Amino acid sequence: MKSKEFFTSENRDAITSAIKEAEKITSGEIRVFIDKKCPGDVLDQAAHVFHKLKMHQTKERNGVLIYVSISDHKFAIIGDAGIHQHVKDDFWNKIKDEMAEQFRKGNITGGLSHAIHAAGIALQKYFPRMKNDKDELSNEIVFGND
Ligand code: CA
Ligand code: CA
Repeated sequence: MKSKEFFTSENRDAITSAIKEAEKITSGEIRVFIDKKCPGDVLDQAAHVFHKLKMHQTKERNGVLIYVSISDHKFAIIGDAGIHQHVKDDFWNKIKDEMAEQFRKGNITGGLSHAIHAAGIALQKYFPRMKNDKDELSNEIVFGND
């Protein structure tokens, strides 16, 4: 099964909408990446993807990547340097744990949507949305090569 096949077009739309909604309250840019396999360390892989997607090029360095490898049950949430100036490394742990809990119940789309929503609220405190906000990073899910 390819990673794409875990999501119907409705699921994909739901996640894109969740990102769009979250980005209405924060200038932070949230992306979701779905990988099939993650053989190595999940944080290394997430950092690699973060760079590959050029997520370090936002103006305020406030991109957030939600990385999920479905078949390997590995997930990570990582933020860029701008966010690290304000928060500790464990900032994303609660959101990640809640997401994992939903995944265990087989609720992938719901778990992601919840994490996106929670990330938006968490980011809003440090990065409120500005009037001249641009959508710096696409809200579509990105799929890894299977
Ligand atoms: Ca934006
Ligand atoms: Ca965006």
